[in-house]
Amino acid sequence: GKSNVTEPHNRHITIIGAGLAGAVLATLLVQRGWRVDVYEKRGDPRVQGYGGGRSINLALAERGRHALRLAGADESVMRHAVMMRGRMVHFLDGRTDLQRYGRDDSEVIWSVHRGELNVVLLDIAERAGVRLHFDRGLRDVDFDARIATFTDPRDGSAHQVAFESLVGADGAGSSLRAAMTKRTDLGERTELLGHSYKELEIPPAADGSFPIEPNALHIWPRGRYMCIALPNDERTFTVTLFLPNEGNPSFATIRNGADARALFERDFADALPLIPDLERDFEQNPTGLLATLYLDRWHFDDRAVLVGDAAHAMVPFHGQGMNCAFEDCVALAEHLDAQPDLASAYAAFQAERLPNARAIQAMALENYLEMRDRVDDDDYLLQRALERKLAERHPAHFVPRYSMVTFQRVPYATAYERGRQQRELLIELTRGHHSLDTLDWHAVDAAVHARLSPLSVDA
Ligand code: FAD
Repeated sequence: GKSNVTEPHNRHITIIGAGLAGAVLATLLVQRGWRVDVYEKRGDPRVQGYGGGRSINLALAERGRHALRLAGADESVMRHAVMMRGRMVHFLDGRTDLQRYGRDDSEVIWSVHRGELNVVLLDIAERAGVRLHFDRGLRDVDFDARIATFTDPRDGSAHQVAFESLVGADGAGSSLRAAMTKRTDLGERTELLGHSYKELEIPPAADGSFPIEPNALHIWPRGRYMCIALPNDERTFTVTLFLPNEGNPSFATIRNGADARALFERDFADALPLIPDLERDFEQNPTGLLATLYLDRWHFDDRAVLVGDAAHAMVPFHGQGMNCAFEDCVALAEHLDAQPDLASAYAAFQAERLPNARAIQAMALENYLEMRDRVDDDDYLLQRALERKLAERHPAHFVPRYSMVTFQRVPYATAYERGRQQRELLIELTRGHHSLDTLDWHAVDAAVHARLSPLSVDA
């Protein structure tokens, strides 16, 4: 879109939520000449530390980094990031295997600490000229008078603020979405995954170093459930245990620290000695619910629009929720520049992003099955090996879906559709084979060219 940064105007936006999307969107808009106020329910994390001090980390990939570059934040964020080259799979018998994500170290993902990231983004937003208001939780909106009411959680006092238009970057439990729903049907539905998660901590080794390979996303796949661990730059790892809510084992049967220890002794034996406070972590950390949020509409004429998790929360198994939220921010800023009025910009934003959000939500759900159940399966490994070969032999025609999502910026919906075509081809070509050695490469190459058109990678 074209940028009107030199044109003076009074355009004003009020953003709800100074989390990941709120801070990036605010920065992008201020850079484009908007006046931006952001209201955040919690206190300033730069003053009082990040919410509860839990060490939660996130995988940052190309889509997210692209948005951070535009916001002038990539360099500061990358200073705290730890490179992850691939999945380090931990088998039940203790063997490990590194499955690379991409061709080389230009195709990797990055582990970033949520709290640190938020602090860096808030500093950049404030320096750019965004006005941040902490301890202001949105409670109610009068859309006719265009007045929003916020509550200060410290003393319960109410604060009324006039607005021109509201952007909801207030996460999966969005209060703005609730307020919009009172006025218009957003077509909201939530699908629970039926699995939940618990975070545990691996501290540094006795000599202060990383206790296991730092440059990988560790996975312990165990069929219906799994553990993962992502590195932090202070040489710790955050472990996330994903379990079903019902059945055995599940959060219904693993109910306390002793149950968790028994589960780890049996299923995650090589991880157990790394987690000294397993019982305490299990009992004190909350159990997180996992769900997908679908809306049919993301905006209420020119008065309000939703971005990020508030519009399309997803399960975390593709590591794309934040990346998608950042991509939303760029799209919204561009539509606001290109369209004559707010209502058209919001409609154009929704038209572009809603199908893409649906696609990454579906891929994130599929990836759970892949991570917990398939990364140690022979058919899957053969298909993956062929996928890598085809990506080498036909880089314009065959790009693994994971790469399209993670290392490129082709629309998620395109990645989803091409991924489906490619998977069908991989299944057909490997049927009846146990190794790549028995394939007829002439026929394989011909099939790739006949079935897959070249993909434009700089979309
Ligand atoms: P949030 O980050 O949730 O920010 C919302 C903000 O709004 C918060 O600051 C909140 O305090 C504030 N707020 C809430 N209510 C109000 C109110 N009423 N008034 C004012 N402010 C309010 N994504 C990735 O890309 N990679 C990953 O590896 C990854 N891993 C994940 C692992 C787990 C276990 C989970 C649960 C999610 C993961 N995600 C990951 C997803 C990612 O966390 C979210 O997609 C991302 O945080 C969305 O950003 P957001 O700004 O929309 O919402």
